[in-house]
Amino acid sequence: MRYGFVIDQDRCIGCHACTVACKEEHQVPVGVFRTWVKHIEKGEFPHSSRHYGVMRCNHCDDSPCTEICPTSALYQRTDGIVDFDNRRCIGCKACMQACPYDALYIDPNHNTAAKCNFCAHRVEMRLEPACVIVCPTQAILAGDLENPASKVSRVVATQKVSVRKPQKGTQPKLFYVGVEGDLLEPTRLSRADTYLWSDRREQYAGASANDGVNLAGALAREVYDVPHPTPWGWRIAAYLWSKAVAAGALLVAAVLLTLAGQTASTLFNIVCPAGALVGLAVTSALLVFDLKRPDRFFYLITKPNFRSWLVIGTYFLIGYGVLASAWLLFGIFLGSVPRVLQWLAAGFAVASACYSAFLFAQAKGRDLWQSPLFLWHLLVQAFVAGSSTILIMGILMDPTAGALRPAILILLISLIVSLAMNMGEIALPHISEDVRIATRVLIHGRLSRRFWGLVIGIGIIAPIILAALAMLGAVPIAFAMIAAVLALAGLWWFEELWVKAGQSVPLS
Ligand code: SF4
Repeated sequence: MRYGFVIDQDRCIGCHACTVACKEEHQVPVGVFRTWVKHIEKGEFPHSSRHYGVMRCNHCDDSPCTEICPTSALYQRTDGIVDFDNRRCIGCKACMQACPYDALYIDPNHNTAAKCNFCAHRVEMRLEPACVIVCPTQAILAGDLENPASKVSRVVATQKVSVRKPQKGTQPKLFYVGVEGDLLEPTRLSRADTYLWSDRREQYAGASANDGVNLAGALAREVYDVPHPTPWGWRIAAYLWSKAVAAGALLVAAVLLTLAGQTASTLFNIVCPAGALVGLAVTSALLVFDLKRPDRFFYLITKPNFRSWLVIGTYFLIGYGVLASAWLLFGIFLGSVPRVLQWLAAGFAVASACYSAFLFAQAKGRDLWQSPLFLWHLLVQAFVAGSSTILIMGILMDPTAGALRPAILILLISLIVSLAMNMGEIALPHISEDVRIATRVLIHGRLSRRFWGLVIGIGIIAPIILAALAMLGAVPIAFAMIAAVLALAGLWWFEELWVKAGQSVPLS
């Protein structure tokens, strides 16, 4: 048994009956949709044409939403239907980033994710989905793709069918007949401020023509669609930032303790682990309060999906918190920290800093975040954040301390590497059109001023100059503190723009 849909766009008349029947069947609230009919237009009057595309969950055989879901609220049934259990959902919105097809939304009544579930309750009673029975032209077929006698498998076997974004490797089980190709490629559409019947609502993160969207040549115009809100906002950027500070504090401390050997230092034995624990507390709070259902945060522990990097990362953060606490206790009560504990903590610091690269890579809908450099960004950011934090605290405590110069050197090297990696993101070949568009948003579009001015100028180049001058003794050591503050600010701006740019390309 392998249920799937066939939608014949040659038969579709754009009446929206499927949308309405679905809303009635599942009591879908106003403003969100399990299935909708997108309209595009091509050509100029009188040589113009309008095309419809029925959008919904593709019930992918290799579904990224079920992989990233940290509590298995989304799951694949044995009959191939991708279903969900909103009693397990914590509202992390990761599935919305993982789905390349924009199929999920947050139900405003329950604050949990929802989507088309193939009317599984009807299928179990041998009834067809509500959209199938209501369609006046029989444009929607549903059935078992493994049964050669079923209508869906006969159409798939005998007619020319298309799926959305086959390059994503998700193996969709929704096949289109007669669909206009531009309709399935949102980056090939131009978007105006008005559309079919009214002014346009902001569709995705305030994108505009300057963003580089539609550079493929505006082959068609989108004239009717649904809103595509961006699921992740400033809290996710702040989480990346505070996690870099938390991880970097003990990572850089372990390196400096090995290099400088200041085993009795209050800075390293007490201030650094205390800073790491404060950073971890802020990180955890940001993660919990970004959930649509913060009351269910503990499901990450009690109902874990160990394929999700949200769960794996949670265990890294817990382990790092335990080791940072042990480091602090050794520092307070014994005045020194065993070398083995230092390096164990450093290992968990690296894991805590870097796991987000794997989490963002599971967000299959966002091509920019698939960057192979992102893992190294996160590691370097931990060194930037850790050395900056140690410099600020160290200079405030004792500007003459001997460990400050190695800390400035680490900051300087990590900023130079960070600059090189930022340039690498721009210069390296882009794996897809979506990456090219997102990068263009960053370097030429609406985010470009902040990227070049704040991230590169104030956040990287200015601190490199200040740190180099402080290193050479050309300016007082206090200038290194200014470099550290700027580097931390630059890190924040990078995280904010990275999260925004990744979501700047429409998914549907
Ligand atoms: Fe449906 Fe999207 Fe999940 Fe595929 S990834 S099964 S389209 S929600």
